[in-house]
Amino acid sequence: MQMLHPFRGSVQQYLDQLDDCETHRPGHCPQCQVNRPLTAHGFYTRTIADAAFDGEIRVRRYLCETCRRTVSLLPEFALPYLRSSITVIALFLIARLLLAKTLAAALPPPAPYQRGQFWLRRFRAQAEALCATLAAVAKPAAAPGFVYRALSMLEAAGWIPAHRVLFATVRQHLLGWPRSLVPDGRRAALLPAAAAV
Ligand SMILES: [Zn+2]
Repeated sequence: MQMLHPFRGSVQQYLDQLDDCETHRPGHCPQCQVNRPLTAHGFYTRTIADAAFDGEIRVRRYLCETCRRTVSLLPEFALPYLRSSITVIALFLIARLLLAKTLAAALPPPAPYQRGQFWLRRFRAQAEALCATLAAVAKPAAAPGFVYRALSMLEAAGWIPAHRVLFATVRQHLLGWPRSLVPDGRRAALLPAAAAV
C-alpha cells in the first residue's frame, strides 16, 4: 500500500532526509488499523523527472508486524506509475490546454510527444472525477467543460495540495489509475475514476 510521505519540499530535500526513518514513521497501520508504530523495512527505487532532477529516488517502506503487510511512503511530488513529477505534468497541461501552446512547445525536452498525448488523454478522461472530488477544497469554476473546470480548480487549490486531498482521502490518482493497478497495489474491482480511461 502506498501512503503519502508527510515531508514537503524539493526532490533534493526529500533525498537529504531519507535516512531518518523515525521522524515520519507511521504510528499505526493504515491497513489493519492496529495502533502500533510500523517497522522500517528498507526501500524500493523508482525514477522521477522533475525540473531540477532526473533519476532514481528511494521510497521508504515500513512493515506492520501485526498484519505483515508493507506500506511505502511516496513523496508527494511523485505520482504512482508515472515518471514525471506533478509539477512537470501540471506545467505541460497548463501550457497546452490553457495557454494553447503546441504539443512540442508545451512539452519539457526531451519528452517524446507520445508522452504529452498520453497525459492529455488521461487528464481528459479523469477531469469529471477530479471536479467532483476537488469541490471539497476549491470553489467550482465557471469554466466551460470538465477539463477547464478541473484545471481551474487545480490551479486554485495548488496541484500538490490537490493531489494530497485526492490521494489521501479517496485514493484518487491525478491522471487516473491504469487498469492493471488499484491503489493498494493488487487487482480488484475498478474504482469509478479509473473506469473512464
Ligand atoms: Zn497492519
